Amino acid sequence: MAMQELTFICPVCQGPLQHESQAYVCMRDQRSYPVTLGIPDFRIFHDPSVQTETEKTFTVRLAAEYPHCSFAELLACFESLIPINRSSLAAKRRLHLQTGVARGKSSLAEIQGLTKLPTRGQFLEIGCGTGPFLLAAADMFQAVVGLDISMPRLILAKKRLEEAGRPAMLTCACAESLPFSEQSFHLVVGSDMIEHVADPVKVIREGYRVLVPDGAIFLATPNRWSLTAEPHVNVWGVGFLPKGWRERYVELVQHVPYRNISLLNWFELRRLLRQTPFTRWRVILPSFPSEHTALMPVWARAAVPIYDLLRDHSLTKWLLYMFGPLFHVVCFKR
Ligand SMILES: [Zn+2]
Repeated sequence: MAMQELTFICPVCQGPLQHESQAYVCMRDQRSYPVTLGIPDFRIFHDPSVQTETEKTFTVRLAAEYPHCSFAELLACFESLIPINRSSLAAKRRLHLQTGVARGKSSLAEIQGLTKLPTRGQFLEIGCGTGPFLLAAADMFQAVVGLDISMPRLILAKKRLEEAGRPAMLTCACAESLPFSEQSFHLVVGSDMIEHVADPVKVIREGYRVLVPDGAIFLATPNRWSLTAEPHVNVWGVGFLPKGWRERYVELVQHVPYRNISLLNWFELRRLLRQTPFTRWRVILPSFPSEHTALMPVWARAAVPIYDLLRDHSLTKWLLYMFGPLFHVVCFKR
């Protein structure tokens, strides 16, 4: 199996980089990519949902706190900087955070059931956030790489992995322009990522490029037509409204912004996949790991057996493709 050694390349020209003490430099483009706490910043545009100056302030603050803080302390510091304090949303975020590693392990088991992953493979997560999936993958892969558009979240991920004794290569970059050579990874994961990027086709194309010939990409994304609340803002029915109304509706009922989120329904997901270089994929209705269901609110826990029942019968399965909470997708490169 042909595979490249893991080194960073220029995200603009895909040429080699010179590694200097506090930066990576592309001589061809005359571009310099700065490094913070060992995390290179290869972003060539900024996340429209994040104000650059605010993000810089957070980064400086977290980098200063980093040496004498635990992951929990650093997370508390980061949360104190974010202005959202709606209790229903905070509870939801906490659940998402607590169950991240279990969900990662469960997804990896699901992927293993569909494709053979090598024992000494290389793993990339696009949109790794604070790194729960990276922790789950660290047991299975020889090299684990986490990429995210948010430097503050990567600083948190670094601390978390360090505390767990699981070092990983971290990088801040745009999912549309990955700083890696082709055929670098056996598995690429994008969990709750594809609905946030400006150009999902380009992102999946980049995932395809960096995969080895028999590698796979795994995506997890909420269903726009889900009968449960919109997971990012915890508001019911958002996905059934026309696009132009969603932001105002969420603002009205939850008083939070709803920008740069484009959920897909089953038809839109398939249309998206058809525009990528992948010719073979499987859309999966995932099971929920017990570590996750145990922490869910009572009504949601009550719905899990119904979900499992519908999922197990071919006649009722389509109901979940239409109105179930989320999709998992595995695309195979051959
Ligand atoms: Zn370059």
